[in-house]
Amino acid sequence: MGRKLIAGNWKMNGLTGSGVGLARELAERARAAAPLGYDLLVCPPATLLFPVAEALRGSAVALGGQDCHSERSGAHTGDISAEMLRDAGCSYVIVGHSERRADHGESDALVRAKAEAARAAGLTPVVCVGESAGQRQAGAALAVIERQVSESLPRAGDPADLAIAYEPVWAIGTGLSATPTDVAEAHSHIRALLAHLVGEAAAATVRVLYGGSVKPENAAELLAVPDVDGALVGGASLKAEDFWAIAASCP
Ligand code: PEP
Repeated sequence: MGRKLIAGNWKMNGLTGSGVGLARELAERARAAAPLGYDLLVCPPATLLFPVAEALRGSAVALGGQDCHSERSGAHTGDISAEMLRDAGCSYVIVGHSERRADHGESDALVRAKAEAARAAGLTPVVCVGESAGQRQAGAALAVIERQVSESLPRAGDPADLAIAYEPVWAIGTGLSATPTDVAEAHSHIRALLAHLVGEAAAATVRVLYGGSVKPENAAELLAVPDVDGALVGGASLKAEDFWAIAASCP
């Protein structure tokens, strides 16, 4: 597997001052540490995309959106298309985050349509999957992941232009991260599913990230798990020092 991807999901956090300040600090650190042995990505709220793109210019830190619409344009008040994200300087977009699946009732089919729209606009989708606490307690974690992977991924396109984030819902924002054993089991299951869907060689090029309470204290252990190709980081991505420490934990 190639370079790991460390992605920050700022969610609905940040105003111009704090967001641009955070982006500037990351860009400065990335310039000072260049060349980096991993890929870095930040996904700010839509209102900050343009100023954050400006702050990141000339650094190795990539920009991503947190969601996109499945259509290219049209009468969809409040929504943002993948092409608009691209226009704002994005190269990635998160789709199917569990908060969108829960808050906005997004189905696997819709997530797939969004991932396909992202690809069509030249963005790499980061497709999120992961079971709830109840599903895990019921012994259904792998079955849920299997359904989400087979139904939420784009059908066509280069597998290398795709990332999946395994994010157990019970680990997001709770401080409870999955154990390395749970993560290893889920990631090897996802890799096997991918091999079935796109063939073994192509499956090896898809980056499968872990997300759920990743912090400087547990990052090294989680990033060392086989088949973990990076991390999707929420809360800890809002502090440059913590996000940087997580990235620097890449083996
Ligand atoms: C996330 O929102 O994708 C996430 C993993 O959040 P946190 O790191 O805060 O658990």
